[in-house]
Amino acid sequence: MNTNSALVLFSGGQDSTTCLAWALARFAQVETVGFGYGQRHHTEMEARVNVLSALRQRFPDWAARLGEDHVLSLDVLKQIGGTALTNAMAIEMGADGLPTTFVPGRNVMFLTAAAALGYRRGITDLVGGMCETDFSGYPDCRDKTIAAVAEALTLALARRVTVHTPLMWIDKAATWSLAEELGGKSLIDLIRDETATCYEGDRTHRHDWGYGCGVCPACDLRAKGYMKYISR
Ligand code: ZN
Repeated sequence: MNTNSALVLFSGGQDSTTCLAWALARFAQVETVGFGYGQRHHTEMEARVNVLSALRQRFPDWAARLGEDHVLSLDVLKQIGGTALTNAMAIEMGADGLPTTFVPGRNVMFLTAAAALGYRRGITDLVGGMCETDFSGYPDCRDKTIAAVAEALTLALARRVTVHTPLMWIDKAATWSLAEELGGKSLIDLIRDETATCYEGDRTHRHDWGYGCGVCPACDLRAKGYMKYISR
């Protein structure tokens, strides 16, 4: 087992790209894993490839540490459906009090699949962008949920599984600041131009904070965070 390796849950968005930089600054060897779960928009999976390639080009020190990228299919989430991320549904508040973008069980499945892949790769440190501060009420982003899943996986695999969540207690403005601390303006530019956060998968409208429809809750959060970050 390699305690100096990490596996980053990497979706190609702002948060997981910042987490990837965080891991590259701390671990000697870093691998990435992304999940196809029937997302309606392909921009996310395309952004993953573009971000990884831009990181390799612009950060030679990190490129030397950046190992394999894995893509796993979790189509069961699409099969279960009923969310605005996998089906043609409006993004609004659902009857359960959560936005229709909530995908039940998603982070539990992601962490389980990542831990199983890590088991095969000899990696027990996972890194994820879950955040309780700007979490839209998603119960599977809570620190308590992540800690319980890590404990369950540790028991299930008979091997200590550690889940690092560097963004858990910070807001989107602080996530931009963290990116700046880690990789300076070059990383800010990379995140702004290459990452995809928009729930509508929009890559045609460019704003100060990056590409997106500018209207959906994910764009709104990202835009407000960026404005707060630059006004500091
Ligand atoms: Zn959007």
